[in-house]
Amino acid sequence: MTNTQNKTDVILIGAGIMSATLGSLLKELVPDWDITVFERLDNAGEESSNEWNNAGTGHAALCELNYTSEKSDGSIDISKAIKINEQFQLSRQFWSYLVNSNRIRNPRDFIVPLPHMSFVQGEQNVTFLKKRFEALSNNPLFQGMEYFDDHEKMKDLTPLIMEGRTSNEPVAATKIDSGTDVNFGALTRKLFDHLKSKNVEINYKHSVEDIKCTSDGSWELKVRNVDSGTVDLHTAKFVFIGGGGGSLHLLQKSGVPEGKGVGGFPVSGLFMVCNNPDVVARHHAKVYGKAPVGAPPMSVPHLDTRFIDNKESLLFGPFAGFSPKFLKTGSMFDLLRSVKMDNFVTLLAAGVKNASLTKYLMKQVMLKKEQRMETLREFIPNAKSEDWDIVVAGQRVQIIKDTEAGGKGTLQFGTEVVSDDDGSIAALLGASPGASTAVHVMLEVLEKCFPQHMKEWETKIKEMIPSYGVSLAKNPDLFKKIHTSTAQSLDLSEKESVYS
Ligand SMILES: Cc1cc2nc3c(=O)[nH]c(=O)nc-3n(C[C@H](O)[C@H](O)[C@H](O)COP(=O)(O)OP(=O)(O)OC[C@H]3O[C@@H](n4cnc5c(N)ncnc54)[C@H](O)[C@@H]3O)c2cc1C
Repeated sequence: MTNTQNKTDVILIGAGIMSATLGSLLKELVPDWDITVFERLDNAGEESSNEWNNAGTGHAALCELNYTSEKSDGSIDISKAIKINEQFQLSRQFWSYLVNSNRIRNPRDFIVPLPHMSFVQGEQNVTFLKKRFEALSNNPLFQGMEYFDDHEKMKDLTPLIMEGRTSNEPVAATKIDSGTDVNFGALTRKLFDHLKSKNVEINYKHSVEDIKCTSDGSWELKVRNVDSGTVDLHTAKFVFIGGGGGSLHLLQKSGVPEGKGVGGFPVSGLFMVCNNPDVVARHHAKVYGKAPVGAPPMSVPHLDTRFIDNKESLLFGPFAGFSPKFLKTGSMFDLLRSVKMDNFVTLLAAGVKNASLTKYLMKQVMLKKEQRMETLREFIPNAKSEDWDIVVAGQRVQIIKDTEAGGKGTLQFGTEVVSDDDGSIAALLGASPGASTAVHVMLEVLEKCFPQHMKEWETKIKEMIPSYGVSLAKNPDLFKKIHTSTAQSLDLSEKESVYS
């Protein structure tokens, strides 16, 4: 075993979309800072950020029904939808800046225009969708959304979904053309290629085993070379733990008080992928439905056209399930290893509170292919078993912590940036809404960890992301301008006529 000491300004753990985004932001803001990346796998974007491991939805709340809840007075709360949409606009602006400045090229490799639709069945859901449509379509961020409940019209839009239904079945849909399919794997790889060209040191097959704070406030990492087994020490003034599902273990190892009492609830995922090109060719949209009763929000079923490996594909899912792994390539002992004295009671409370969810997820894991086909047939009544195969998706580790609102052991479905009080280390926990909002989340890391630099960085941030710090919902003209210009830069412009 060798123990070389290596010093750098910034260490990014993990080569997923989050580290890629933070590294790219830092390289623009402080080009002379030295950045080193450690990734346990042999390439970038191989875990959750990989195109086959997530659903590739550019989450802008255009079709996801779980971002608009019904209030007790029957009205629709659209505040979360506005928030998510505005966050996605930040990503669009940063990606546009990178394309316009030739940092990355060929945006069609990672983002493609694709209508986003919501589809519901049953009287009650139809009423909900109509109210949701009325609430959103008055807002500038959702301009261009259309509502349908006429079977013939809907058959033209989504033949696969409508064929085989009786004409008196209550169904409805909304459609908006400004949606996108994002290949986050391709984007992650492009960003790491760019970082490499800027002399960022990227070490694949290097696993971070331990993190300790040193006497001068820097962080010392024990890094194992996966091939040779040798372990080296690396120190940095700032560390970002972007290990996806692996972040919780690393945060716990760092010993920062902000990581105490936090646990993780791993949710696995499966997609069904269509192997019949004739069926694939008959669908062109992302169509989101409603999650079944008792299911977690991340198992909202959707039928998605995807653009992967220069090919149009059709995926349905994800089917959520339970697996104790924190990463798709992780270990069956991950959950057990995350149980500590400081989170034991929290985890116990979460176990009791979420017994029915755990049971639901366990049951989902046991489903046979034919049972999954039955779920698919709620979307595509005439779906044939031989046209569909099953692929394993990524793991999502949801945060468990004690909160004022939810009490002990509350399961959370969002993401959270956890940083220590001097801002020298930060970790991203949680998985949703995920990669789409990477730019927003990484700006939050900068705000939390580098408050002393934010004033001097503000001009550059606004050059890259003009709506930084501004509510687009309250500035429709700015939104229109930004949406149109980012559509042009990202080669999405054919769909932007609604805003011009
Ligand atoms: C089924 C599913 C569907 C999803 N759908 C969408 C969607 O439609 N739209 C969307 O925006 N988001 C979606 N997401 C969420 C999105 O994929 C994630 O939020 C995002 O990819 C997380 O990026 P990351 O960089 O944090 O993690 P990852 O991409 O998982 O990267 C973390 C990296 O860290 C490495 N690592 C871990 N531990 C260590 C260690 N100790 N040492 C070195 N390296 C380490 C891992 O190998 C991995 O490469 C989905 C996720 C899943 C699972």
